Amino acid sequence: MFEAYSYAASAADKPLGPHEIQRRDVGPNDVRIDILFCGVCHSDLHMARNEWGGTNYPVVPGHEIVGRVAAVGSDVSKFEVGQLAGVGCMVDSCRVCNACKEGLEQYCESPESFTQTYNSPDKKSGGVTFGGYSTSIVVDEAYVLSVPENLELAAVAPLLCAGITTYSPLRHWNVQQGHKVGIVGLGGLGHMGVKIAAAMGAHVVLFTTSPGKIEDAKRLGAHEVVISKDLDQMAAHANSFDFILNTVAASHDLDQFMALLKRDGTMTLVGVPEHPHPSPSVMNMIFKRRSLAGSLIGGIAETQEMLDFCGKHGITSDIEMIRMDEVNQAYERMLKSDVKYRFVIDMATMER
Ligand code: NAP
Ligand code: ZN
Ligand code: ZN
Repeated sequence: MFEAYSYAASAADKPLGPHEIQRRDVGPNDVRIDILFCGVCHSDLHMARNEWGGTNYPVVPGHEIVGRVAAVGSDVSKFEVGQLAGVGCMVDSCRVCNACKEGLEQYCESPESFTQTYNSPDKKSGGVTFGGYSTSIVVDEAYVLSVPENLELAAVAPLLCAGITTYSPLRHWNVQQGHKVGIVGLGGLGHMGVKIAAAMGAHVVLFTTSPGKIEDAKRLGAHEVVISKDLDQMAAHANSFDFILNTVAASHDLDQFMALLKRDGTMTLVGVPEHPHPSPSVMNMIFKRRSLAGSLIGGIAETQEMLDFCGKHGITSDIEMIRMDEVNQAYERMLKSDVKYRFVIDMATMER
């Protein structure tokens, strides 16, 4: 075992602060990554504050990790020391269930499901897993991603969660040229959804509660922007969407968006609010055979596909770089929807 410097929350109502953790020594299949940058996902905040229940303290959040390979195990074939590498939301899974065999490790059917990058039982070293608000991490190479060399590294970090969480449903629901696609919420996930859906050729409409984000949304690739509180603007889009991706991190009325779907259209939820949404109207769904769905991150192969897609299309996240000790302020700003459009921690600023 070796020591890594990290930032952890020690309780739901405590700010994050410096905390030393132990990482396992590099095993035959392991890659040790010196972390250079880590994105700040709203899930980190939900987990640090135990908004979903089940948080084990101290918790070291962070699952948008990029860095440089510092050591590899004897059987590692995909990575070499010095190469760039990324780690997203998972670091292991059972590998033998149907989901894992299909490359859908995020839907692993084993009783313990997949091993999340933080706050999951750690099968290899006991205790719980610790995430990317840390100077280093050791991960089995099967769960490590190759990072495109042509993109700005810090701006690649958010692709590891915000990128794949939006790419996967856009692919699964076959978004393509000519489709009218709505993205709800312009935060970390939403701004990646706008960029990726536009790159797939869709006509992208961004729904926001923040009038100040209209120009940014257009710059990021939205063809139209709708202020979701403006009922007239909403009504103008009734029955017209093939697909809507809802990234909102708070409980809200889903019916106002369901009513915008065409017959057979789908709205997929990826936001996971602390409190449930009001139950959607059944009438609204049956009369146009509309679907309400959900989607969880993406598998390892699809995450690599997404990174390669972003490399090809020159897509990265719009980031605001912060120091490690600014993370608590970043959480407060995230709660006010004041994120443009992902905070990324410069790990060189970690207190050592
Ligand atoms: P974020 O950066 O905070 O963005 C969320 C956006 O939602 C805000 O910027 C805001 O956009 C909008 N919003 C916030 N409060 C709202 C409200 N009360 N009503 C309407 N809109 C509101 O968060 P994120 O990192 O993108 O994460 C979004 C959610 O996805 C979180 O719940 C997170 O846990 C979840 N998540 C899920 C997965 C998955 O696999 N399913 C993966 C990652 C994250 P506007 O200002 O434009 O309205
Ligand atoms: Zn995330
Ligand atoms: Zn499995």
